[in-house]
Amino acid sequence: MARASGKIRPIAVYPISFLRILPLMPRPLVAITHVSAMQANLAAARKAVPGARTWAVVKADAYGHGLSHAMRAFETADGLSLVEFDRAARLRELGWQKPIMMMQGMYDVSDIEHLVRDDLQPVIHHVEQCRMLEITPINRPLVVHLKINTGMNRLGFMPSQVGEIYHRLVSMPSVRSVSLMTHFANADSNGTMPDVAAQIAAFAHATAGLDAEVSLSNSAATLLQRQIRGDWIRPGVMLYGGAPGMQSALSLGLQPAMTLQSRVIATQSLRAGDSVGYGSLFIADQPMRIGIVACGYADGYPRLASTGTPVLLNGVRTRLLGRVSMDMLAIDLSPLPDADVGCEVTLWGEGLPIDEVAAHAGTIGYELMCGIAARVRREVRD
Ligand SMILES: *Cc1c(COP(=O)(O)O)cnc(C)c1O
Repeated sequence: MARASGKIRPIAVYPISFLRILPLMPRPLVAITHVSAMQANLAAARKAVPGARTWAVVKADAYGHGLSHAMRAFETADGLSLVEFDRAARLRELGWQKPIMMMQGMYDVSDIEHLVRDDLQPVIHHVEQCRMLEITPINRPLVVHLKINTGMNRLGFMPSQVGEIYHRLVSMPSVRSVSLMTHFANADSNGTMPDVAAQIAAFAHATAGLDAEVSLSNSAATLLQRQIRGDWIRPGVMLYGGAPGMQSALSLGLQPAMTLQSRVIATQSLRAGDSVGYGSLFIADQPMRIGIVACGYADGYPRLASTGTPVLLNGVRTRLLGRVSMDMLAIDLSPLPDADVGCEVTLWGEGLPIDEVAAHAGTIGYELMCGIAARVRREVRD
């Protein structure tokens, strides 16, 4: 028997003590946050609505980009806006001194203690929250935002209630001032119901005669509805380089704030008729080489992405093949005949808009950004 021919070097030649000091090699998958892109996107938002102040929206861990990095990138914003109380407290710990808006307000009367301690400004969208404010003694009165339901039917008071609720809030000892806000259902498209014009008209009608600051525009309205005037804007996804509507982020002048990157960890040579992965969804119609990439749906890559979803291989566009697995996916190596194990693969980010990948999976960039799994290594670049 031809064993131990000497050609293959045994691996276990290091003493254990030496092995221990070898660095742990991580999986090659990494999600990179680009701070300078977030800064540039914030500048683009402010330029789009000159004179308005900006609530930079940082809910969901800054749309998956990391709260502390976002805070640094958005240091020139006038306020930060989110929905999670523990994250708001974290912003104060990290040194954020400007306003913080809680876009769903308090969920329970016990949240009022946190509002006061961390100087947070709640959105008041339901009469139950008015009651909470009325029954709780507060030593430092709060700035609150009255939310108006102008047609989206998610949060907010009906236009007919607004006058009464506004005056009720203004007269509470626990309230220092009241601002007015609403949220658009369709700022990224025209001709749908309820459209932006109808929502604006409802807002104007509901708030006529009330002397208060106004905040209206999300990213889509900020970029695409320049006719809208408010004292504040509330951009979210655009700050991270996501396109809010059908137009591409690039054409809107936005830079991607996240790059999801990995490497080829194996290659296979297929013959015509060979299939790839679970369900054999891709079948080669001619001989071809494919690469297996360390990235799967357990990392946050969408399992619904199918053959043809764009991927960058050493910066060159190629395509996903077959079904995405839990820890890996397959790509076509044909555009780069020399491609091999170790080649760099960009799943989205610089050079490949996240919204384009999302569209192939029947979703939106927002969901992909927010869905990066905890096991994925993180890196930050300035
Ligand atoms: C999330 C959110 C925003 C930001 O929306 P984008 O579409 O990400 O710009 C603005 N306002 C409210 C109330 C939100 O919940």
